[in-house]
Amino acid sequence: MDVAEVQVARETARASRLLTALLEAVANENVEVVELGATLNEKTLVIQLPSPLANTPGFKKHAISEYDERGPGWAWYWYEVGEHVGTHFDAPSHWITGRDREALHQLDPRTLIGPIAVVDITKEVEKNPDLAVTKEMLLAWEARYGRIPTGAWVVLRSSWSKRSADPTAFFNAREDGPHTPGMGASGAKFLVDERDVVGVGVETIGTDAGQAFKEDPPFPNHAIMHGAGKYGLTSLVNLEHLPPVGGVLVVLPMRIEGGTGCPVRPIALVPRD
Ligand code: MN
Repeated sequence: MDVAEVQVARETARASRLLTALLEAVANENVEVVELGATLNEKTLVIQLPSPLANTPGFKKHAISEYDERGPGWAWYWYEVGEHVGTHFDAPSHWITGRDREALHQLDPRTLIGPIAVVDITKEVEKNPDLAVTKEMLLAWEARYGRIPTGAWVVLRSSWSKRSADPTAFFNAREDGPHTPGMGASGAKFLVDERDVVGVGVETIGTDAGQAFKEDPPFPNHAIMHGAGKYGLTSLVNLEHLPPVGGVLVVLPMRIEGGTGCPVRPIALVPRD
C-alpha cells in the first residue's frame, strides 16, 4: 500500500468505529432518541385558508381488512391525507419561488440528517404571539451558543405544541386571522444569505407567523427559504427535550414523485444530559 491507500484505510476504519460507537451510545442511552413527531389521527388540526383559497383534507383512515373476511390473517389500511397535515415536511417545490427546485423524490439524502440549533422563543411568544423571528434575534442566539452550524435545522421552540389539543388556542384566530409565531423575513434572509442551513422547523402549523399573509412578499419564510432550496418542518413536539446545540435531526420524507411535502416522523439524537 502506498501512503494514500494507508490514509484511506485509516479513514475507513475510523468511520466504522464512529458508526459502532453511535450504535453503542443509542443502545446504552448515552445518546437519547427524542420523538419530534405528533401522533397523526383524524383529530389532527389542519391549516384553515380563507375563501376562495382551497383547503387541504385532514387525515382519514380506511380499512382494507381487519383480520376479517376481507383478509382473515391480516389488517391493512389506506390513508387519505393532505401532504401538509400534522407534523410534516415542506419541500422547496411547495412554494412558487421554489417551483423549479427539489420535490420530495429529488431531495439529497445527505441533507436529511443535520445538526439542530434550537432557538427558544417561549417567553417572547407569551408576550407577543405574532412574534416573527428576526436576524437580530438569531445573532443574539449565536452570541450565546455559537455560530449556527453548516447544514443545520434552525428550530423555533415556542411551546405552541402544548396547545394542539385545543383548536381555539392552537389557531389563536381573531377576525383578522391567526396569531401564531414563526420565522420572519429578516431571519429567513439571514439564514439563506449569511448561513448555510437546510431549513426551519416550528411547533406551529406553518413556518411563517400567522399574520405573515399581510407581508410583502406574503409568507416571507416560505418565499425566501423554499426559493433558496431550503426545507420546512411544522407541528414539531418535544423541543423542550433538546439542548440548544449538540443535537442531530433525522427526517426521512417519503420519496413521492413530484410531492411538495408529506407527514413525517422526525427524530433527534441528543447526548444524555
Ligand atoms: Mn407545509
